[in-house]
Amino acid sequence: MASLISHAVVAAALGQAAPARDRGDRRFWTAAVLCSCLPDADVLGFLFGVRYGDLWGHRGMTHSLLFAAVVGIAAAAALPDSRRRDGWKLAALLTLITASHGFLDAFTDGGLGVAFFSPFDRTRYFFPWRPVRVSPIGILPFFSRTGLNVLLNEAGWIWLPSLALGALLRAVFARSNAAEKISSDRRPG
Ligand SMILES: [Zn+2]
Repeated sequence: MASLISHAVVAAALGQAAPARDRGDRRFWTAAVLCSCLPDADVLGFLFGVRYGDLWGHRGMTHSLLFAAVVGIAAAAALPDSRRRDGWKLAALLTLITASHGFLDAFTDGGLGVAFFSPFDRTRYFFPWRPVRVSPIGILPFFSRTGLNVLLNEAGWIWLPSLALGALLRAVFARSNAAEKISSDRRPG
């Protein structure tokens, strides 16, 4: 895994693409951060004897694109006002945010790869370029030199690019939201 902090940072960046009313809603941000971190709930499986390489093992089913779609749609449906006309955009964005977790993990330099296409194809994948140092599992290892090094590495490879991506998305989508508002204001009543 990359650390949960970094998954949340990516969620905050991608969330800038949300419609303005969602961006101003704390519930949307809570859902976005939960979606980005939820795939790592699979580490609980270790407590129950699930092995790393199993279907439900770490970086298995919960890191797949199918899981991301199910979680994204369910999270969007759970948010109030989800039946509005552009509700599908919210579902698509929350799916992307959930899927970003697996993409980030596939850039790390340790562990097994990510089962993007589970359950249809259980192959574990990594990207050919893996600059992100793998994060220790659990909280305690973070209070060590390794934990600090991991965070510094993620700051360079994930936080800074996320900041740039977030600023870019905010600029692009602020403009398209404004254009949408103008055209809907002009529409005859
Ligand atoms: Zn993960």
